Amino acid sequence: MEIKGVGIGRGVAVGPVIRMAAPLEEPADTPRPESIPAETEIERVTKSLALVNADLNRRAEEAANGDEATKKAAPILQAIAMFASDPSLAEGINTFIKQGKTAERAVFDGFAGIEAMFKAIGGYQAERAADLHDVGQRVIADLLGVPAPGVPYSETPFVLVAEDLSPADTAALDMDKTLAIVTSQGGPTSHTAILARARGIVAVVSAAEAADLKDGEQVIVNAAAGTITTDPTEEQINAAEHAKAKAAAAKELRGKPGATKDGHHIPLLANVGKPADADPALEYGAEGVGLFRSEFLFIGNSEPPSVEEQTKAYAELLSRFPGKKVVIRMLDAGADKPLPFLTPEDEPNPALGLRGLRTLREHMNVLEGQLKALAAADAQTDADLWVMAPMVADEHEAAYFVKLGKSFGLKKVGVMAEVPSIAIMADKVAQVADFVSIGTNDLTQYTMAADRTLGSVANYQTAWHPAVLRMIKLIADAGNKYGMPVGVCGEAAADPDLAVVLAGIGVNSLSMTPVALDDVRAELANWTLEEAQEKAAKALNGDFYKPAE
Ligand code: PEP
Ligand code: MG
Repeated sequence: MEIKGVGIGRGVAVGPVIRMAAPLEEPADTPRPESIPAETEIERVTKSLALVNADLNRRAEEAANGDEATKKAAPILQAIAMFASDPSLAEGINTFIKQGKTAERAVFDGFAGIEAMFKAIGGYQAERAADLHDVGQRVIADLLGVPAPGVPYSETPFVLVAEDLSPADTAALDMDKTLAIVTSQGGPTSHTAILARARGIVAVVSAAEAADLKDGEQVIVNAAAGTITTDPTEEQINAAEHAKAKAAAAKELRGKPGATKDGHHIPLLANVGKPADADPALEYGAEGVGLFRSEFLFIGNSEPPSVEEQTKAYAELLSRFPGKKVVIRMLDAGADKPLPFLTPEDEPNPALGLRGLRTLREHMNVLEGQLKALAAADAQTDADLWVMAPMVADEHEAAYFVKLGKSFGLKKVGVMAEVPSIAIMADKVAQVADFVSIGTNDLTQYTMAADRTLGSVANYQTAWHPAVLRMIKLIADAGNKYGMPVGVCGEAAADPDLAVVLAGIGVNSLSMTPVALDDVRAELANWTLEEAQEKAAKALNGDFYKPAE
């Protein structure tokens, strides 16, 4: 049987399913039957606590022997394990049992008491309350003989199947064991999907029927096709192995510039979220940075970072790319990236409210502080800095931002194209902006009127829709007419087949999460510019778009 979903990237994986267990229900607070003595319950709890403690310690040990990212989890797991061996917690649970509670309820109440205490202390302790809760849930799951909730543990590699994953779940994945992720919810541009892509995990999201997959079932997950094949034949497994080998071959071109078969250069750039992401960008052969999402400096703070702090971060990034293009995006606050000190709380429809440049213009101190920091960082380094504003509606806003940016001494100032209005006005925009970078995640969201964070409208969230491609063509045509560079920095650029179409439409550069660079580079090299243009003509006609049934 074949289950359809939305593939992230091009990877293929074959392996057995392990389901992420659903959250446990709260154990009933009914008295324990008299036939079950307290000693028996205490013995069961003691065993479960010891088992959870040993399990977490074993995972800590394994993490300590893993790669750099996994190593960081070791001390956290060790600290969490200690909760399960805390004598005062065990004593509290035993007291509850002696008072007539069931083992499960006693554990629930025992942990809940300490969780409440941690929360009341606040700060670091309050943050540990969630960890404590997780340990309690593991103990209760063991007592009930059901799988523990959260990311499962396995000695052997597996395909993780879940309703959806939180960013924390995705970060906790053991990359040596996770062959692929399949979710029944979540859209292709959800932040979970972006994370899966950034970590190079084979993933198919929004596959509703995946909810019926069973533990241990053998499946083929094909992200390029967006399918999960259950009960595969030997022939299908061989084909999947061949696809995996093809992906490995794509690595061979790493280090070469992006180009079509006939040598038409399409620079392949990286999307990065913090200066340290320069490492994977360079590792995967990015020719520069096409999108630096500057939000990381602002998220989690109660006020904007100082100009000095920002200058340091931008200079850190720029210094990693001497002589290369680095496009930094101004703060994009609002909608799916709300910031408490900038985003109004009472917007009924935040995606259509204050976000991007609209937010910045309401907070000139933030806008000017960021421009000042960018100009200072530019003066300290040798990268080729380009600066752009998000969520720009038309040529008037573009002209405003370009003029302002230049008044701070910035040399290349451009705008993102994320809403249909700017595409429709592209010929005017091309006469005032130094460049345009197309954010296909939002351009798709706004063209198709489909919230990018909603799984229920995931079918609409595809840049393969000819309406989205025609928007892109309007911008590319205007750029080429007026000699203004046009890039794509949304997730569409990371889809190798779509990247060929974008090149054929006339886009000049593509920027994507670094792990996608190999596949895009390899696919572009298979097509001459003329062939890409022919493919683009078909795509613009809707030949590759499959409407939902
Ligand atoms: C986009 O909208 O395509 C984009 C690149 O910006 P973000 O995903 O950060 O909104
Ligand atoms: Mg966007």
